Amino acid sequence: MKYALVTGGSRGIGRAVSLKLAEQGFYVLINYRSNHEEAKKVLVEIEEQDGKGELLPFDVSSADEVSDVLGGWMSKNDQHIDVLVNNAGITADNLMVFMTNDEWNKVITTNQNSFFYVTRQVLEGMIVNKFGRIINVVSLSGQKGHPGQVNYSASKGAVMAATKSLAMEVGKKKVTVNCVAPGFIKTEMTEHIDEKMWKKMIPLNRFGEAKEVAGVVGFLASEDASYITGETIAVNGGMYS
Ligand code: NAP
Repeated sequence: MKYALVTGGSRGIGRAVSLKLAEQGFYVLINYRSNHEEAKKVLVEIEEQDGKGELLPFDVSSADEVSDVLGGWMSKNDQHIDVLVNNAGITADNLMVFMTNDEWNKVITTNQNSFFYVTRQVLEGMIVNKFGRIINVVSLSGQKGHPGQVNYSASKGAVMAATKSLAMEVGKKKVTVNCVAPGFIKTEMTEHIDEKMWKKMIPLNRFGEAKEVAGVVGFLASEDASYITGETIAVNGGMYS
């Protein structure tokens, strides 16, 4: 059985990704920070569909928690992670002129430092095993920018750049590293955004569903994607093109 870790796997896009990977036969480690009830619901859904998984709560922005909880799980179970989906992320929007240190720091630590802490933890196992899929959920905002999201765009753009370098480091070990860049997707993160107003800017004339992002993540985790690395695939209804 192959193991997949989905950070922020309890809600929104991460929830859809957890369900998709379970459907593809992975044992899914569902990470989240605090919302235990929602995470438990995802695990129940997976088990109802004869899938397998478990909950693994830790704060992705804490190097110590990543090493203690994820590193601890790997040592205790003597297992490595085959597929890592770095999905956990937050926003703290503000115009830069008003942005506080806290708004900057919490977005950078949660969205960008987490990529380093979590990926580093699972990388050696992938290299030794000569197989791995690392999939980073970034954003349209990191590709083209968005006013009020200087912190968020910086964090996502950094992960896209890091993806390219890491893909070059580990390609020979059959570890692929890619990004998926959603546009507006219907989750709690976007529930305050007026779809009626924004959909005019989207060629497909609607917000996307989390499962439409999960489908691409599932593809990147599959054998069919074995010759794709260092790439960013947009899932944005045509907004970027
Ligand atoms: P969401 O509905 O707000 O869910 C966020 C998930 O991340 C939750 O499972 C949450 O856990 C977890 N999380 C947050 N901070 C964490 C931390 N420090 N440690 C561990 N887990 C943490 O978000 P979403 O809309 O699905 O977004 C998922 C990813 O897609 C993010 O990286 C986001 O930037 C990206 N994205 C989203 C959109 C969109 O339109 N929705 C567009 C582009 C990119 P708890 O439940 O415990 O809080």
